[in-house]
Amino acid sequence: MILKKDFNQNIKLIQTPQGFKFKTIFEAHKKTFIKNSRDDSSLIEEEKINFVKGEKLNLKITYADDLNYFKLFIKPIFKSGIGYDIHQIDTKSKNGLKLCGIEINYNKLVGHSDADVGIHAICDSIFGALSMRDIGYYFSNSNPKWKNKNSIYFLKFAKEKLKEKNFNIVNLDVNFICEKPNIRKYRKLMIKKISSVLEIPEKIISIKATSNEKIGFIGDELGIAAESIVQISNENFH
Ligand code: ZN
Repeated sequence: MILKKDFNQNIKLIQTPQGFKFKTIFEAHKKTFIKNSRDDSSLIEEEKINFVKGEKLNLKITYADDLNYFKLFIKPIFKSGIGYDIHQIDTKSKNGLKLCGIEINYNKLVGHSDADVGIHAICDSIFGALSMRDIGYYFSNSNPKWKNKNSIYFLKFAKEKLKEKNFNIVNLDVNFICEKPNIRKYRKLMIKKISSVLEIPEKIISIKATSNEKIGFIGDELGIAAESIVQISNENFH
């Protein structure tokens, strides 16, 4: 195939594949006196060769290193996922709250596992981006196996799924909705924790919070909600 013609049209850059009628190429090989010919078409009389217009992106992959060059031309895939979770505050408790794996001296949340609303939202966003089911499907709240389970376990499961499907996190944005505690105080610790579990850089994790302006269930300090958005790609940008 012709990749590029020179100015006088006589020099051609050839790329594979080449195709021959079996008999033609078989006879040509039998007749040739050329030893160690590097190219089949050189054995055929020039006037018998037809050229077809080629394409620059039709790269020949021979060596492992050629694959790296080829990858430069492949556009990465991006996918996004959303997760949301809410748990009721155990107003009778004095402490035991856990958010994004960080223990906080505040009333704990009610739940089958450790009720880490932040991690549950992150897991669901990852499952969403991978077009999987939700956290309740994999870790049912009626299964005694997950009773009081540390939610870090669920996050590690989500991380494994990302790895299995060859995806990497591009960025992660988590938002808490609560009146108390003051999330800002624990932001850095949470980012550090999530970064170490998911093995992603801290700089691509955002953790923030908003109050519910004293409105409704959350405004009455009866619950804490969290939402998470994640973007994933088959390319690793970090
Ligand atoms: Zn939950």
